[in-house]
Amino acid sequence: MMEQTISPLKGPEVKLVMVVTYGCPQRCTYCVIKKYADVMAARDLKAGLEYVMTTSRPNVQIHFFGGEPLLMPLSRYRDTVAYGNRLAAERGKTIRWVLTTGAILLEPRNIDFMREHNFNLEISLDGGPETQNMNRPVVGRVDAYTMATRYLPRVFASGMDTHVSMVVSANRANDLYRDFHHILELGFRKIFIMPANGDDWEVQALRALHSNLDRLYPDCLSLIRSGRLNFYNIKDWQAPFRLNTELAVSVEGDMTYTYNCCLVRDHLRPEFTMGHVTAVTESFDSMYDRRMTNEECIPVFFKHAIKAPSWLKNNIESGMIVTRFVQALKDDLGIRDDLYRRNEVYIKSYDRRMKPEAWFDPQSLTEAA
Ligand code: SF4
Repeated sequence: MMEQTISPLKGPEVKLVMVVTYGCPQRCTYCVIKKYADVMAARDLKAGLEYVMTTSRPNVQIHFFGGEPLLMPLSRYRDTVAYGNRLAAERGKTIRWVLTTGAILLEPRNIDFMREHNFNLEISLDGGPETQNMNRPVVGRVDAYTMATRYLPRVFASGMDTHVSMVVSANRANDLYRDFHHILELGFRKIFIMPANGDDWEVQALRALHSNLDRLYPDCLSLIRSGRLNFYNIKDWQAPFRLNTELAVSVEGDMTYTYNCCLVRDHLRPEFTMGHVTAVTESFDSMYDRRMTNEECIPVFFKHAIKAPSWLKNNIESGMIVTRFVQALKDDLGIRDDLYRRNEVYIKSYDRRMKPEAWFDPQSLTEAA
């Protein structure tokens, strides 16, 4: 019997997201980031490392994010990683480097660098050529799918710990089953899926998501049981859906209470920032322990970042379809965890008339259709 032991909010590892740029060569249909080309200053990268190293916890994770973080020059990564490793050694801590990329700018020299420093690599890829080119186009007349996949063989050959984050958009939910298998065929064995936050999940899209997950269920369960798939949603999913709630340093060097506050900077940052990372007075651990929860973050994010906040309801419905899928897997795998109960307060506060187990009734889609 497996059991979740580490709460997503507390544990021996603290995490700091470094949003090193808002620039990006891609134009994903569901992206909420206002893009501009600035890159985080070396001084602020160092200050972020010094701040996180004041934690009393033994393990530190630094997650490079964007925009597209590989727009930051490799020389700056070299300096930052060398400095962070030195600080960790001096303080007797372990440091784990993570980078999320759309893979368009992956090339041998940055793959080799990340391998050398034991990076965990998260690749954002939504599926086969049709889905990838539609969802995640690249600026200019280039084939986004080919660009994103051309160095995958080198990534896998490197042995680097790599997983894919697969966004399922409302307009491609119909191809989820096929896209999931395409991702497997590319060679990924660690997969996280999430419905696109901020899409308009109309009833047809919800129905497509539901039926594709139903179709995928036996394959997914069998792959997990045989050890051929590490399905990250099992350990990393929260109902109704998961946002990035970690503390973050913005491109300008501001410490914010969640990564999502960086995304909606024009509206929120003054309200949710605790000042420049070189001048923060509150201890890292104090800030870390009282940062926003997923439940607190969702309404804030929708109110300020999504063009139609009223879509929150149908986004919750899409999230709950995935929640039911993940909960069923956990039940069948003997993992004791109740995603509904763990998030009951939020779910009930959204609509007190609904019991969690009846949160999403597939019958309603049939009727609506
Ligand atoms: S890769 Fe990320 S930052 Fe770039 S457009 Fe897509 S979602 Fe936005």
